[in-house]
Amino acid sequence: MTKTTLNKFIEYLKQTYKIYAPVRDGSELYVKPINDESEIAEIDFTNQIPINTFKPVLLPKRDVLFDFKKGKFEKKNIKYDPECAFLMSVMDLKAVGLFHQTFERDPYYQKKRQSNLLIGQAFFEGTGFTGHLRERYEEDILEHIIFDIMLVKAGPNKWKFYTGSEKGQVILEAFGFKDFEHIEFAGLIKEEGIDPELERHRKEIVEADNSAWGHWGDICTACGKCAIDCPTCYCFNIEDEQDTKEKGSGQRVRSWTTCFYNDFSEVGGGAKFLKTNARRIQNWYTHKWVRTPKEFQIMGCVNCGRCDKVCPVGIKRADVFKWLEEHKKSK
Ligand code: SF4
Ligand code: SF4
Repeated sequence: MTKTTLNKFIEYLKQTYKIYAPVRDGSELYVKPINDESEIAEIDFTNQIPINTFKPVLLPKRDVLFDFKKGKFEKKNIKYDPECAFLMSVMDLKAVGLFHQTFERDPYYQKKRQSNLLIGQAFFEGTGFTGHLRERYEEDILEHIIFDIMLVKAGPNKWKFYTGSEKGQVILEAFGFKDFEHIEFAGLIKEEGIDPELERHRKEIVEADNSAWGHWGDICTACGKCAIDCPTCYCFNIEDEQDTKEKGSGQRVRSWTTCFYNDFSEVGGGAKFLKTNARRIQNWYTHKWVRTPKEFQIMGCVNCGRCDKVCPVGIKRADVFKWLEEHKKSK
């Protein structure tokens, strides 16, 4: 497909979906809603990772789970507007795999997934995936991520299309485009298992004693930016919002939060499981590199680098891992 046809395809999608895509603002990309032709022209195809994520397309920032009226639960017909995440990176699509596992039995997530369309992008150019290595790309990458349609930049002004779901196939065929390849999903876990480097990080975290985290707790401000912008973080809060006009009526709302926030681990009586910044940052790393692989056999970090970029005090994963290793040696 050429760029001209691709733009027509985006126009076609816009008839059904609200589209979110990366747009450049200075040196960074941000995922923004695409409303008209001029905004379509601004979509950035460079494959640079946007600072914010496509998470709201999968998990709304604020989601009304149900209403209650005069103390009685009111059944909700779960419905979402169709939204399209356009040009998700392979890393962000790996994160979708984790969401699928975590929210496997969550009817709200499942309905949201039915209503949304996930379109990824990847590059052959400059990646070494040429000739027969493209088959490896399909086997090593595309078969292990969740997507509806994948655009692969295969040359100047040329995109190869893959589909990863029946929905993707139906949409492309309805648009009148048949020159795509279908990829059968082969599971999230590759035969060779977890990346050895990430495995090494897991060991460093497991073996770090509590005192090692005090150093990072003194630096971290617990602002939660790393978690909000992380494509694999999904912590949420559930609250009953009371209707001020009618007693016993209101809505139960699920909204984003992070394990760094002061009230996140608070339970009845005001006690907190994560009392200090040291315990919070330790919990964040442990969740991603220890608990998630234990529970789902996949890493809780897809290596997108956003947390390193957005941290206001310059905490970077590589520095944390190096420090944990050196701290252990010095003991
Ligand atoms: S690099 Fe940071 S932001 Fe990206 S997935 Fe890993 S922990 Fe999350
Ligand atoms: S962004 Fe940095 S300072 Fe903020 S919570 Fe994360 S690690 Fe701590």
